[in-house]
Amino acid sequence: MKPAVFLDRDGTMIEDVGYLDAIARVAFYPWTIDSIRAMNRAGLLVVVVTNQSGVARGILDEALVDATHRHLAATLEAGGARVDGYYYCPHHPRGTVAPFARECDCRKPARGLIDRAATDLGIDPGRSFVVGDKWSDVQLGRGVGARAILVRTGGGAAEERRPPAGLSADAIVDNLAAAASWILCQHESATRNPQSACRDPQC
Ligand SMILES: [Mg+2]
Ligand SMILES: [Zn+2]
Repeated sequence: MKPAVFLDRDGTMIEDVGYLDAIARVAFYPWTIDSIRAMNRAGLLVVVVTNQSGVARGILDEALVDATHRHLAATLEAGGARVDGYYYCPHHPRGTVAPFARECDCRKPARGLIDRAATDLGIDPGRSFVVGDKWSDVQLGRGVGARAILVRTGGGAAEERRPPAGLSADAIVDNLAAAASWILCQHESATRNPQSACRDPQC
């Protein structure tokens, strides 16, 4: 059973442009490829978990979601980085498109996407991390026993200003690059070098 980093997509890996209804609108943050490659090299699986209710709402279709993820994969590969799995929730209870207009167990903060990835890829969620720009990502991380990191990109800075009662992140950092540093520090001190003190002030 391996540890993984579960990454939110929009607002965390790439800019949140609203419903991503065309591949041309994909905009990577400049640090995303390096950050993912660093986690790959540390032996962490990297898995995207994303809510795509635009499918249930009829704004985009599953073929476009799949094509978007192939585009992300190709761009990452060109930079020597890899995402080990892409999991998305196409549902929404107030959607308009059957069969996606329904309650489900996979719309974050529900844990269905992580449970599927854990089964497919042999992941131990309790040794894993969740990174996202919404409190729902943090709630998901808490719910599966992972460490949860809120990034200030996307909606994260606004989320930081209105913390929900009874929920806190393990770390709140500027972006995915800082999240990756925090994760690598935690991961390495847990696995390789328990005595070494980390020099990262956020860790
Ligand atoms: Mg997001
Ligand atoms: Zn779902």
